[in-house]
Amino acid sequence: MPEDCVVGVDLGGTKLLAAAVSADLGVHHRALRSVADANQAELVELCIDAVEEARAAAPGQVRALGFGIPCLIDQETGMAVMAVNLPIHDLRFRDVMRERLGLPVFVDNDANVAAWGEFRFGAGKGSTDMLLLTVGTGIGGGIVIGGKLFRGAHGFAAEVGHIIVEPGGPLCGCGNLGCWEQVASGRAIDRLGRAAAREHPEARFVELAGGDPERVTGPAVTAAAKEGDALATGILAEVGRRLGEGLAGLVNVLDPDVVVIGGGAVDAGDLLLEPARAAFGDSVEAPNHRPAVPVLAAALGNDAGAVGAADLAFLAVGSPA
Ligand SMILES: [Zn+2]
Repeated sequence: MPEDCVVGVDLGGTKLLAAAVSADLGVHHRALRSVADANQAELVELCIDAVEEARAAAPGQVRALGFGIPCLIDQETGMAVMAVNLPIHDLRFRDVMRERLGLPVFVDNDANVAAWGEFRFGAGKGSTDMLLLTVGTGIGGGIVIGGKLFRGAHGFAAEVGHIIVEPGGPLCGCGNLGCWEQVASGRAIDRLGRAAAREHPEARFVELAGGDPERVTGPAVTAAAKEGDALATGILAEVGRRLGEGLAGLVNVLDPDVVVIGGGAVDAGDLLLEPARAAFGDSVEAPNHRPAVPVLAAALGNDAGAVGAADLAFLAVGSPA
């Protein structure tokens, strides 16, 4: 009898991964698409195209589809209400995918499905209460409480990147000024890198960015820091500090047994995470009167969202791994 499979999809701000996943949560095929500059209609077609590729390559019959997308999701209707970092709004996502692909569809926020993947099979395995942050272009959050994903009353919970931590600060994609994701994510590394480059056009990361201070981005800063450049290391330390301070506030609220950090900024590794851990330790309430909460790098890498979405799709159709 052919093995049951699902397709798990992780839609990010710049790329899309559709993975053919078997019941043991093994990934058998990865269909990748760039979604940079795509509009809403094009994003729908890219999702369908990648799912069809993964479905055709699956080692058994695909029974359901699981999606993680960077939007506020109405869990009752499956509507993608709005997204800060992609041009999606008021899209009947679950209905459209079910109609076009003819399979049961599970859809959730991208950070929620990544949290579920890390909780079940990655750095959060064995915990009961876990906070996941995806630190990339912005900061996404996923919260597991008592072994279950916490979605709130409307499915909109864990939007941790949009807590205002710097009133009057940089403009956020959500319309507010000074959201946490503007001072503690890849965007902050971009911005601080460009500011430093204007003052220090001789900096190593300006050279790595092709010589133009205005073209400095986070990856150039990270690459220079990995070479030991002090200016770049200082920028990552500053962003890490803001990350750790925010994290302390969230740990005060949630009291998780582990915090997992995923997303593209994890490429900077301990250059970002060590300053974050130090600031977290200094800022969390009563650090000497609570068990240490480890702040770990995500273990599943780029597969976390697709695997988490796949597992949730299996659970939704009654065939858990
Ligand atoms: Zn915001």
